[in-house]
Amino acid sequence: MTTDNFTMPFAGGHLDYAEDKRSISDIKMFLADPRAQSILLQRGKPAMNQQGGLHLVHPDALKGINVAQPAPVLLGLKDNGTPIFAFELAEDQTLIPQDSFQEMRFIAGRMKMKELAIAGRARSLFQWFHSHHFCSACGKETISASGGMYSHCPSCMTDHFPRVNPVVIMLILNGDKCLLGRSPGWPPGAYSALAGFVSPGESIEEACVRETQEEVGINTHSARYVFSQPWPFPSQLMIGLICETEENEITLNPKELEDAKWFSRDEVQAVFNKQSDAFTRPPRFTIAHHLLRHWLSE
Ligand SMILES: [Zn+2]
Repeated sequence: MTTDNFTMPFAGGHLDYAEDKRSISDIKMFLADPRAQSILLQRGKPAMNQQGGLHLVHPDALKGINVAQPAPVLLGLKDNGTPIFAFELAEDQTLIPQDSFQEMRFIAGRMKMKELAIAGRARSLFQWFHSHHFCSACGKETISASGGMYSHCPSCMTDHFPRVNPVVIMLILNGDKCLLGRSPGWPPGAYSALAGFVSPGESIEEACVRETQEEVGINTHSARYVFSQPWPFPSQLMIGLICETEENEITLNPKELEDAKWFSRDEVQAVFNKQSDAFTRPPRFTIAHHLLRHWLSE
């Protein structure tokens, strides 16, 4: 979601994907543009500069450097037409110090919004290509096409497009309380909104009802859409919902959750005001954080 005063983290990249300018000669022209910039990744980690921004280079700097396929990936064009590429560097690269590559989950909260969105888009595209490197129709190796926007199987001529997996994430309300849960392995005290993948043949509302029933044994209704978030770990679309219930009793599914609790609006407000440590709030770059903020502001 992007409004005049709020951009959901990992959204708001504002790139023109230039769908009709992706022939081989177009891509060559963009690579030769003196304004062209490329972000660099390694195993999904973006290269950062000393100032905490993305480490940007002109694509010419990649000549002679060992880059992974697909290459080049044209992420899109900025408002002023500047082409933005992404390259994934091999572990033995010598272009920049190895410790420039940083885990995006750890730095997302400090990155500029546009850079976070662009790096997330690149991460998802590379991850998809690596996990779909062989044709699902005939099993032969695919090649990247259209500047990294899809892959093509030269053996059976099938085109494969990057997929995004829809996930519902819901704040369950019972009057003035909301239900939050925690998964095993989370940092101590961390609680967040429940979430789960949408299953084939299921609407968003049905996924919300099923997931809350499966995870905490609570029947919900009246799910309403609030906002969404692209989540590049590896490529989900988080669909933020608020739903209602009149039930209180939690029946925890230990395969899904380690704990789940009701928190009053006052308790959540106090945590967000840093006046309480009743739980650790979800990080600012997550949609769960913004769902809770949205509820508090209603
Ligand atoms: Zn094939």
